[in-house]
Amino acid sequence: MRRPLIAGNWKMHKTVAETGAFLEDLLAEDLPPGVDVVCCPTFVALPAAAMILTGSEIGLGAQNVHWESSGAFTAEVAAQMLTEIGVGSVIVGHSERRTLFGETDESALARARAAQVAGLEVIYCIGETLDERDGGDTFAILERQTANLGVLDPSHLVLAYEPVWAIGTGRTATPTQAQEAHAFVRLRLAKLFGGDAAESLRILYGGSLKPANAHELLGLADVDGGLIGGASLDVQPFSAIIRAAADCANGDES
Ligand code: PEP
Repeated sequence: MRRPLIAGNWKMHKTVAETGAFLEDLLAEDLPPGVDVVCCPTFVALPAAAMILTGSEIGLGAQNVHWESSGAFTAEVAAQMLTEIGVGSVIVGHSERRTLFGETDESALARARAAQVAGLEVIYCIGETLDERDGGDTFAILERQTANLGVLDPSHLVLAYEPVWAIGTGRTATPTQAQEAHAFVRLRLAKLFGGDAAESLRILYGGSLKPANAHELLGLADVDGGLIGGASLDVQPFSAIIRAAADCANGDES
Protein backbone atom coordinates (compact mmCIF):
# COMPACT_ATOMS: atom_id res chain seq x y z
CA MET A 1 0.00 0.00 0.00
CA ARG A 2 1.43 3.35 -1.02
CA ARG A 3 1.15 6.12 1.54
CA PRO A 4 -0.51 9.15 -0.07
CA LEU A 5 1.43 12.37 -0.49
CA ILE A 6 -0.21 15.77 -0.80
CA ALA A 7 2.22 18.47 -1.89
CA GLY A 8 1.40 22.16 -2.20
CA ASN A 9 3.19 24.06 -4.95
CA TRP A 10 2.85 27.70 -3.99
CA LYS A 11 4.66 28.99 -7.08
CA MET A 12 5.40 32.73 -6.79
CA HIS A 13 2.76 33.26 -4.10
CA LYS A 14 3.03 34.26 -0.43
CA THR A 15 5.52 36.57 1.23
CA VAL A 16 7.63 35.31 4.12
CA ALA A 17 5.02 36.64 6.58
CA GLU A 18 2.18 35.02 4.67
CA THR A 19 4.08 31.74 4.53
CA GLY A 20 4.52 31.80 8.29
CA ALA A 21 0.88 32.61 8.93
CA PHE A 22 -0.29 29.82 6.61
CA LEU A 23 1.97 27.22 8.21
CA GLU A 24 0.92 28.20 11.75
CA ASP A 25 -2.71 27.77 10.70
CA LEU A 26 -2.01 24.46 8.97
CA LEU A 27 -0.22 23.15 12.07
CA ALA A 28 -3.29 24.08 14.12
CA GLU A 29 -5.51 21.89 11.90
CA ASP A 30 -6.45 18.45 13.10
CA LEU A 31 -4.95 16.64 10.11
CA PRO A 32 -5.48 12.90 9.71
CA PRO A 33 -2.61 10.44 10.15
CA GLY A 34 -1.42 8.33 7.24
CA VAL A 35 -0.88 11.11 4.69
CA ASP A 36 2.48 12.74 3.92
CA VAL A 37 2.14 16.51 3.50
CA VAL A 38 4.75 18.78 1.91
CA CYS A 39 4.57 22.55 1.37
CA CYS A 40 6.74 24.19 -1.29
CA PRO A 41 7.02 27.97 -0.75
CA THR A 42 9.32 30.34 -2.63
CA PHE A 43 13.06 30.15 -2.00
CA VAL A 44 13.11 33.26 0.19
CA ALA A 45 10.44 31.86 2.50
CA LEU A 46 12.17 28.49 2.99
CA PRO A 47 14.33 29.39 6.02
CA ALA A 48 11.38 30.81 7.97
CA ALA A 49 9.21 27.88 6.94
CA ALA A 50 11.90 25.43 8.02
CA MET A 51 11.98 26.98 11.49
CA ILE A 52 8.21 26.84 11.86
CA LEU A 53 8.00 23.25 10.65
CA THR A 54 10.87 21.89 12.76
CA GLY A 55 9.59 18.95 14.75
CA SER A 56 6.31 18.80 12.86
CA GLU A 57 5.02 16.11 10.52
CA ILE A 58 4.76 18.54 7.61
CA GLY A 59 7.59 18.39 5.12
CA LEU A 60 9.25 21.28 3.35
CA GLY A 61 9.98 21.34 -0.36
CA ALA A 62 11.59 23.73 -2.82
CA GLN A 63 10.31 24.46 -6.32
CA ASN A 64 13.58 24.08 -8.21
CA VAL A 65 17.26 23.19 -7.78
CA HIS A 66 20.39 23.51 -9.89
CA TRP A 67 22.51 20.58 -11.01
CA GLU A 68 25.85 22.05 -9.90
CA SER A 69 26.85 22.39 -6.27
CA SER A 70 28.13 25.98 -6.69
CA GLY A 71 29.41 28.33 -9.35
CA ALA A 72 28.55 31.18 -11.68
CA PHE A 73 24.87 30.41 -12.15
CA THR A 74 23.06 33.65 -11.37
CA ALA A 75 19.70 33.17 -9.64
CA GLU A 76 20.08 29.41 -9.23
CA VAL A 77 20.13 27.49 -5.94
CA ALA A 78 22.19 24.37 -5.19
CA ALA A 79 20.84 21.26 -3.53
CA GLN A 80 23.21 21.54 -0.55
CA MET A 81 21.88 25.05 0.13
CA LEU A 82 18.44 23.50 0.47
CA THR A 83 19.37 20.54 2.64
CA GLU A 84 21.41 22.84 4.91
CA ILE A 85 18.26 24.70 5.95
CA GLY A 86 16.09 21.63 6.35
CA VAL A 87 14.42 21.25 2.95
CA GLY A 88 13.56 17.61 2.30
CA SER A 89 12.18 17.56 -1.21
CA VAL A 90 12.13 19.50 -4.44
CA ILE A 91 9.82 19.84 -7.43
CA VAL A 92 11.66 19.32 -10.71
CA GLY A 93 10.52 19.79 -14.30
CA HIS A 94 7.25 21.59 -13.57
CA SER A 95 5.47 22.51 -16.79
CA GLU A 96 5.81 26.23 -15.99
CA ARG A 97 9.58 25.72 -15.87
CA ARG A 98 9.38 23.81 -19.14
CA THR A 99 7.14 26.25 -21.04
CA LEU A 100 8.23 29.60 -19.56
CA PHE A 101 11.88 29.05 -18.63
CA GLY A 102 13.27 26.60 -21.16
CA GLU A 103 13.46 23.52 -18.95
CA THR A 104 14.06 20.37 -21.00
CA ASP A 105 13.94 16.67 -20.21
CA GLU A 106 17.76 16.78 -20.03
CA SER A 107 18.03 19.75 -17.65
CA ALA A 108 15.21 18.41 -15.46
CA LEU A 109 16.98 15.09 -15.17
CA ALA A 110 20.27 16.79 -14.28
CA ARG A 111 18.50 18.73 -11.53
CA ALA A 112 16.84 15.58 -10.24
CA ARG A 113 20.12 13.66 -10.09
CA ALA A 114 21.91 16.43 -8.21
CA ALA A 115 19.00 16.73 -5.80
CA GLN A 116 19.03 13.03 -5.01
CA VAL A 117 22.81 12.96 -4.58
CA ALA A 118 22.38 15.70 -1.96
CA GLY A 119 19.69 13.65 -0.20
CA LEU A 120 16.56 15.37 -1.46
CA GLU A 121 13.35 13.58 -2.44
CA VAL A 122 12.47 14.54 -6.02
CA ILE A 123 8.93 15.28 -7.19
CA TYR A 124 9.42 14.91 -10.94
CA CYS A 125 6.72 16.48 -13.13
CA ILE A 126 5.59 15.17 -16.49
CA GLY A 127 2.49 15.70 -18.62
CA GLU A 128 1.21 16.52 -22.06
CA THR A 129 -0.07 19.80 -23.50
CA LEU A 130 -3.57 20.13 -24.95
CA ASP A 131 -2.24 19.96 -28.51
CA GLU A 132 -0.37 16.79 -27.66
CA ARG A 133 -3.47 15.22 -26.11
CA ASP A 134 -5.69 16.30 -29.00
CA GLY A 135 -3.12 14.90 -31.42
CA GLY A 136 -3.27 11.52 -29.70
CA ASP A 137 0.32 11.85 -28.45
CA THR A 138 -0.21 11.66 -24.69
CA PHE A 139 1.46 8.29 -24.19
CA ALA A 140 4.33 9.11 -26.56
CA ILE A 141 5.01 12.28 -24.57
CA LEU A 142 4.91 10.43 -21.26
CA GLU A 143 7.24 7.81 -22.72
CA ARG A 144 9.70 10.48 -23.86
CA GLN A 145 9.55 12.38 -20.57
CA THR A 146 10.25 9.23 -18.55
CA ALA A 147 12.76 7.67 -20.96
CA ASN A 148 15.93 8.44 -19.00
CA LEU A 149 14.63 8.42 -15.43
CA GLY A 150 16.27 5.02 -14.87
CA VAL A 151 19.43 6.81 -13.65
CA LEU A 152 17.50 8.11 -10.64
CA ASP A 153 17.09 6.39 -7.27
CA PRO A 154 13.48 5.17 -7.19
CA SER A 155 13.41 5.15 -3.41
CA HIS A 156 13.75 8.97 -3.39
CA LEU A 157 11.54 9.67 -6.35
CA VAL A 158 7.90 10.70 -6.74
CA LEU A 159 6.35 11.22 -10.15
CA ALA A 160 3.74 13.92 -10.71
CA TYR A 161 1.50 13.46 -13.74
CA GLU A 162 0.25 16.95 -14.55
CA PRO A 163 -1.62 17.36 -17.82
CA VAL A 164 -0.55 20.89 -18.79
CA TRP A 165 -4.05 21.76 -20.01
CA ALA A 166 -5.38 21.14 -16.50
CA ILE A 167 -2.86 23.26 -14.57
CA GLY A 168 -4.42 26.42 -13.23
CA THR A 169 -7.22 26.23 -15.80
CA GLY A 170 -10.05 24.80 -13.70
CA ARG A 171 -10.18 21.88 -16.13
CA THR A 172 -9.35 18.50 -14.62
CA ALA A 173 -8.54 15.18 -16.18
CA THR A 174 -11.49 12.84 -15.95
CA PRO A 175 -10.95 9.87 -13.64
CA THR A 176 -10.57 7.67 -16.74
CA GLN A 177 -7.95 9.98 -18.28
CA ALA A 178 -6.04 10.24 -15.00
CA GLN A 179 -6.11 6.52 -14.24
CA GLU A 180 -4.98 5.47 -17.72
CA ALA A 181 -2.11 7.97 -17.69
CA HIS A 182 -1.02 6.90 -14.20
CA ALA A 183 -1.22 3.20 -15.10
CA PHE A 184 0.87 3.91 -18.21
CA VAL A 185 3.46 5.77 -16.15
CA ARG A 186 3.62 2.92 -13.64
CA LEU A 187 4.27 0.47 -16.49
CA ARG A 188 7.10 2.72 -17.66
CA LEU A 189 8.49 2.81 -14.13
CA ALA A 190 8.35 -1.00 -13.99
CA LYS A 191 10.47 -1.15 -17.14
CA LEU A 192 12.96 1.31 -15.67
CA PHE A 193 13.18 0.10 -12.08
CA GLY A 194 11.50 -3.31 -11.94
CA GLY A 195 8.02 -4.26 -10.81
CA ASP A 196 8.55 -4.05 -7.05
CA ALA A 197 10.02 -0.55 -7.18
CA ALA A 198 7.28 0.60 -9.55
CA GLU A 199 4.62 -0.70 -7.17
CA SER A 200 6.16 1.31 -4.34
CA LEU A 201 6.65 4.52 -6.30
CA ARG A 202 4.11 7.25 -5.76
CA ILE A 203 2.54 8.94 -8.77
CA LEU A 204 0.77 12.18 -7.91
CA TYR A 205 -1.95 13.78 -9.99
CA GLY A 206 -1.74 17.53 -10.57
CA GLY A 207 -4.10 19.84 -12.45
CA SER A 208 -6.93 21.76 -10.79
CA LEU A 209 -7.23 19.21 -8.00
CA LYS A 210 -9.56 20.70 -5.38
CA PRO A 211 -11.85 19.50 -2.57
CA ALA A 212 -14.76 18.99 -5.00
CA ASN A 213 -12.88 16.46 -7.14
CA ALA A 214 -10.37 15.15 -4.61
CA HIS A 215 -12.17 11.96 -3.65
CA GLU A 216 -12.80 10.83 -7.22
CA LEU A 217 -9.20 11.46 -8.28
CA LEU A 218 -7.36 10.40 -5.13
CA GLY A 219 -9.45 7.23 -4.96
CA LEU A 220 -8.10 5.94 -8.29
CA ALA A 221 -5.97 2.81 -8.16
CA ASP A 222 -2.77 4.40 -9.47
CA VAL A 223 -3.18 7.92 -8.05
CA ASP A 224 -1.12 8.17 -4.88
CA GLY A 225 -1.72 11.77 -3.95
CA GLY A 226 -1.67 15.19 -5.51
CA LEU A 227 0.55 18.10 -6.44
CA ILE A 228 -1.70 21.04 -5.75
CA GLY A 229 -1.33 24.61 -7.01
CA GLY A 230 -4.28 26.94 -6.51
CA ALA A 231 -6.08 24.89 -3.87
CA SER A 232 -2.93 24.71 -1.72
CA LEU A 233 -2.87 28.47 -1.14
CA ASP A 234 -5.58 28.48 1.51
CA VAL A 235 -5.56 26.26 4.57
CA GLN A 236 -9.17 25.07 4.32
CA PRO A 237 -9.13 23.60 0.79
CA PHE A 238 -5.63 22.23 1.29
CA SER A 239 -6.68 20.51 4.53
CA ALA A 240 -9.83 19.20 2.86
CA ILE A 241 -7.70 17.57 0.16
CA ILE A 242 -5.42 16.04 2.81
CA ARG A 243 -8.52 14.62 4.53
CA ALA A 244 -9.82 13.28 1.22
CA ALA A 245 -6.49 11.50 0.68
CA ALA A 246 -6.81 9.91 4.13
CA ASP A 247 -10.41 8.85 3.37
CA CYS A 248 -9.32 7.23 0.12
CA ALA A 249 -6.42 5.44 1.81
CA ASN A 250 -8.91 4.13 4.37
CA GLY A 251 -11.23 2.89 1.63
CA ASP A 252 -13.85 5.60 2.06
CA GLU A 253 -13.99 7.31 -1.33
CA SER A 254 -17.37 9.00 -0.99
C1 PEP B 1 0.59 22.85 -10.34
O1 PEP B 1 1.00 23.97 -10.59
O2 PEP B 1 1.41 21.92 -10.15
C2 PEP B 1 -0.83 22.64 -10.27
C3 PEP B 1 -1.29 21.42 -10.28
O3 PEP B 1 -1.63 23.77 -10.24
P1 PEP B 1 -3.23 23.82 -10.07
O4 PEP B 1 -3.59 22.89 -8.95
O5 PEP B 1 -3.53 25.24 -9.76
O6 PEP B 1 -3.81 23.36 -11.36
